[in-house]
Amino acid sequence: MTVVAVGTLAFDSIETPYDRRADALGGSATYFAYAASFFTPVQLVGVVGEDFGDAHLEALRRRGVDTSGVEIAKGKSFRWSGRYEADWNTRHTLDTQLNVFEHFDPKVPQAFRSSPFVFLANAAPDIQLKALTQCTGKRFVMADTMNLWIDIAKDGLLELLRHVDGVVLNDEEARLLTGERHLLRAARKVLDLGPRFVVLKKGEHGAFLIGSDVHFALPAYPVDTVVDPTGAGDSFAGGFLGYLASVRNTDPRTLRRAMLYGTVTASYCVEGFSVETLGAIDRSRVEARFNELFSLVSL
Ligand code: AMP
Repeated sequence: MTVVAVGTLAFDSIETPYDRRADALGGSATYFAYAASFFTPVQLVGVVGEDFGDAHLEALRRRGVDTSGVEIAKGKSFRWSGRYEADWNTRHTLDTQLNVFEHFDPKVPQAFRSSPFVFLANAAPDIQLKALTQCTGKRFVMADTMNLWIDIAKDGLLELLRHVDGVVLNDEEARLLTGERHLLRAARKVLDLGPRFVVLKKGEHGAFLIGSDVHFALPAYPVDTVVDPTGAGDSFAGGFLGYLASVRNTDPRTLRRAMLYGTVTASYCVEGFSVETLGAIDRSRVEARFNELFSLVSL
């Protein structure tokens, strides 16, 4: 079953303690689409500038991503740059240029609107809400956000949370959103805001799944070498929701399995810059690592 994904397609410039990359393909929706398309067709909604070119969109189409909802607007594409500390969990945003994203008015194509699965990748909450309203066939909606929107658009974000089934947050965002230092309490407060479950990401320490009917904790897959953590959250969400859509099930046991798939797609993401590794592997590599992770956490 298809997933509609709304978010940014971007050029990222990244500095890590060991290497750097300028103008690499990035964006919250890009990473999500790369990860989800291992499992299920993706219908992408976003905007790029005239500088984006067709090669990146063509690469997405080759993965079964429908890019007919990606508008090409006059101007430059969204650009983001960031720097990581040696602990990998501390990230400094150096620059954000919204460019064509500043006036983005999402238009979900008619052919996408009946999709039951929707992912609202990191974007301004009013953009996420506008897109969601157009998804008339939605039955299962997940959203991501970031501290910027908690700081400057909290009302919109709270409104959005009333309309989603699941939300993915990192530990810092969960604390900022709820004012709770204790993570479990923060998660419970997030559930009071509307979602049925929250995925709490803790970077290299793994992730929690907390909901009214489900509690699950999983370590990150231990990769040999982290190259660039950018997009790990979006790739996690792509593996998670892509898997759920492919099996058309969202019961607690399936959500737990989805946690493993999300962990696996995120682990491949961080092994390269941009979508280099995600773009170079196939579903069999995802399954192989799923099995390894499964044995790692089994008795
Ligand atoms: P993640 O590492 O999962 O948080 O995702 C990083 C991606 O999000 C990068 O590729 C950026 O281009 C994109 N990004 C950064 N800031 C924003 C923002 N304010 N809104 C939407 N996407 C963003």
